[in-house]
Amino acid sequence: MHTPDNFNPSHQLPAVVTGAALAFAFVDGRLLVAGSADDTPVIPTLADLQAAEVSGVRHYLGELAGVPCIALVLPDDAPAPPGFSAAGLRSLFFTLPETLLALAGRAFQIAEWDRTHRYCGRCATPMRDRAGERARECPACGHVAYPRNSPAMMVLVTRDRELLLARAHRFPGAMYSALAGFVEAGETIEDCIHREVREEVGVDVTGIAYFASQSWPFPHSLMIAYTAEYAGGDMRPCDEEIADAQWFALDALPTLPNRVSIARRLIDATIERLRQQP
Ligand SMILES: [Zn+2]
Repeated sequence: MHTPDNFNPSHQLPAVVTGAALAFAFVDGRLLVAGSADDTPVIPTLADLQAAEVSGVRHYLGELAGVPCIALVLPDDAPAPPGFSAAGLRSLFFTLPETLLALAGRAFQIAEWDRTHRYCGRCATPMRDRAGERARECPACGHVAYPRNSPAMMVLVTRDRELLLARAHRFPGAMYSALAGFVEAGETIEDCIHREVREEVGVDVTGIAYFASQSWPFPHSLMIAYTAEYAGGDMRPCDEEIADAQWFALDALPTLPNRVSIARRLIDATIERLRQQP
């Protein structure tokens, strides 16, 4: 997920938001869509939601090809009105166009920030919006809270023409993927790569190279993907996190992640690169 080319982001809510605005409305972390959530979900306009008597806290997202877009945060117990359903973002991956999915992911993170930062984390006073930026501040103690963004690294380790792929306990079915983990306080991303690879499978790496990044709103990750080369150590998968990890030859690969994920793009690009090596 990334910012669409024809999207102009802004946090400054206009004095009047037109009824034609696209409204990404969230109830308890789920997106309100019109139409069939399983088949052809439709992002409603603000006018559609107003006609259904749906209202909530508004956050401005910006304009998509000139059309204003807002996030709307409804009470957690608000029922979906007739003709709408509340769908988890993951369930919309293959039914919502990529541009709208990216904006839904952006809206989701802002809605989550809204509903988890209503009170000051320091003194518990109700927070208020801060002028001039997407932030909330405490009127009593001045504490400021921004939408959360948690950096995580993903790394595909290669050894000659083999890929190190692992199956985490939480993965569905028999899927294998690159290693990944959250950056901890005080770490660089490179520190995180060395630590996570050592912790998860017991090997050392070198030659870390940036591949690409992807916003991953589950709930607020920024996934930053790398390749690295094996530098030493015996494979010892960590029992707590990893069900299995192996070196896979290019012609004997396991089930891989879905193509919407940066993991799959990282794996496919690396396979292509290794295949082209003499
Ligand atoms: Zn406070």
